[in-house]
Amino acid sequence: MALGRTPLAAAIKALRAELAGGPHADLGQEVSELGSLLLQRELRRFATVRDPAEQELLASLPDAAAVVAVDGRVRVCNAAFDALSASGRAAGLTSLEVTRSGELSEAMRRALEGSARRLELELPHRALSVHLTPLLRGEVLCLVRDVTEERRAAATRRDFVANASHELRTPVAAIRGAAETLLAGALDQPETARGFVEIVHRQAERLSRLTQDLLDLSRLESRQWRFEVAPVDLTPLGRQVDELHGPSARKKGLELRVAVPEGITVMADGRALEQVVVNLVDNAIKYTPSGSVELRAVSSGGEAVLTVTDTGPGIEPHHLARLFERFYRVDSGRAREAGGTGLGLAIAKHLVQGMHGQIDVESGAEGTRFRVRLPAA
Ligand code: ADP
Repeated sequence: MALGRTPLAAAIKALRAELAGGPHADLGQEVSELGSLLLQRELRRFATVRDPAEQELLASLPDAAAVVAVDGRVRVCNAAFDALSASGRAAGLTSLEVTRSGELSEAMRRALEGSARRLELELPHRALSVHLTPLLRGEVLCLVRDVTEERRAAATRRDFVANASHELRTPVAAIRGAAETLLAGALDQPETARGFVEIVHRQAERLSRLTQDLLDLSRLESRQWRFEVAPVDLTPLGRQVDELHGPSARKKGLELRVAVPEGITVMADGRALEQVVVNLVDNAIKYTPSGSVELRAVSSGGEAVLTVTDTGPGIEPHHLARLFERFYRVDSGRAREAGGTGLGLAIAKHLVQGMHGQIDVESGAEGTRFRVRLPAA
């Protein structure tokens, strides 16, 4: 039944009949407009309501949470949601104004029409996981979780597996090649055979270093490495470095100086500290073609400072910030040639930090200096 300009009473009657299960009531343009204006007024009144129970509920959620009103503006939200907005306040803003994401704005429009939405947003400096759930009264609950760290960790794991596989492939391929050559006949020519067996031996040692470093790093990163921190006297460590590295330094024509005065004791895990120092001195010898390498210890204030200084070619400044990353090499060809795994400094950094110390590096044309600071005992 078309009502046209018929009185309001007739429209009310028709609508009552429809709601009671009768036929669809055609209310005519003016009555319909009146209805929608009344609804808007009601919603606006509702939009300004501050319900303490609702705010308490939002505040208790672990994610950033907001209730978005039918006009697309945040009606109420928790502090974490406020923090998403550049101004630090999100109430009254649209999702586009809060996140500057057109994708979210579009999803919000669909959610306000009644369909639940789930999306992942890649914003310039962060990744957000968003759930939009339509509520009664046409509003939308917007839950936002910052997944930047999770994403970064997953990407790091992927890189790690890719890098580790790449590192393992080279020695495995070399061993396989040498074994195949031996089997194909080189075994019967003792002079040639020796060269191939040497390749197998060298590459197997490299594999063994690599797997050991990978195991160490994995234990450190998953916090399964048990640090037993106790007072450690540095004097025996100095002697040990002299005995262990003296021959290899001399073989290269390098002077190895150890200047560790008596009586310096640090709080450290003895084994971990030894691994750090051995690694730094080993690198210094490895990457220094001529001149000297020095291990020095001094105590200053409440800490002890160990430095390993070489007269090598130095490391260009733009490499320094990334030097302690796993598999980072300044000159990958040369470092691999020298037998490095690219993991030594990453392990050293974890070990020093695990003992509540700090490690850094300085480098210039005259050489490189690594410095380890540890609390004095
Ligand atoms: P690697 O096993 O390749 O030596 P590290 O993690 O110990 O791996 O070192 C990372 C990279 O830092 C090395 O590949 C090398 O390029 C550079 N490096 C480390 N120590 C020195 C040093 N004393 N002088 C010059 N370059 C160094």
